[in-house]
Amino acid sequence: FPKSASMHVGRFVRGLATAAARRGAEIYERAPVMALHKVADGHEVETPRGKIVARQVLLASGISKVGPLGWIRRRIVPIGAFLVVTEPLSPGQLQRLMPTRRNVVDTRNLVVYWRLTPDNRMLFGGRARFAASNPQSDEKSGHILKAAMVEVYPELADTRIDYCWGGMVDMTRDRLPRAGERNGIYYSMGYSGHGTQMSTLMGSIMADVMDGRPDLNPWKDFDWPAIPGYFGRPWFLPILGAYYRMKDLVT
Ligand SMILES: Cc1cc2nc3c(=O)[nH]c(=O)nc-3n(C[C@H](O)[C@H](O)[C@H](O)COP(=O)(O)OP(=O)(O)OC[C@H]3O[C@@H](n4cnc5c(N)ncnc54)[C@H](O)[C@@H]3O)c2cc1C
Repeated sequence: FPKSASMHVGRFVRGLATAAARRGAEIYERAPVMALHKVADGHEVETPRGKIVARQVLLASGISKVGPLGWIRRRIVPIGAFLVVTEPLSPGQLQRLMPTRRNVVDTRNLVVYWRLTPDNRMLFGGRARFAASNPQSDEKSGHILKAAMVEVYPELADTRIDYCWGGMVDMTRDRLPRAGERNGIYYSMGYSGHGTQMSTLMGSIMADVMDGRPDLNPWKDFDWPAIPGYFGRPWFLPILGAYYRMKDLVT
């Protein structure tokens, strides 16, 4: 993309939180919702740090390992996304490999994307494989990403990897988000790895939806059936990974 930019999501989240607090929102960290009970004037929300009664509740939790979200756990599959960052590249390498310093992304199902960091390292990310993120899994995915990077830039075969990490994204079956209301609880999630802009947009849309404008919800006509045979443990991920790898090979 000739005209592209990338975003520091840590700073973005901090900026959103600061803006919300400026408008009067109270934010409680390390307070996972463990239970929700319907009460006369709304919902009692239970956390290890205490309870509150809320007139309205919006679930925007993405993947949640804890809490009363069993219904959602049958519809959202947590999948890892991984990144590696090399040692700083030499001025010659920068000039040869990325003279325009653009952001790059390919179109495969097991997508890869890359860019240079301000301190001249190659940041190379992607799905790598259909697996969860944890330290062992991240390392394994890091090796796959390094190989993918070397496929694009053989010159980086001996370049050291200085950083490797991963995170989880909340994938739906058709990779489209879902938002709406169920049993008096609102939800908006399932951004499937593309939520940075969409979740921010849906935040403001859901405020209007919860103020009595359900017609504004772009996902209102999308049904959301449970994934057959799925109860929260994504046993089918290796099969799905192999299927998409094969698709990438033949297309
Ligand atoms: C490595 C990586 C790379 C990515 N790259 C991109 C990209 O290039 N472009 C893009 O658009 N998207 C990208 N994504 C995806 C993007 O980060 C997500 O789609 C987006 O963050 C989803 O926003 P969200 O608000 O729905 O969920 P999240 O940002 O996951 O926020 C959910 C919040 O809910 C909290 N929570 C969970 N359970 C509970 C509970 N029981 N009680 C209270 N709170 C709870 C969590 O702690 C978290 O703070 C990437 C993700 C990863 C991991």
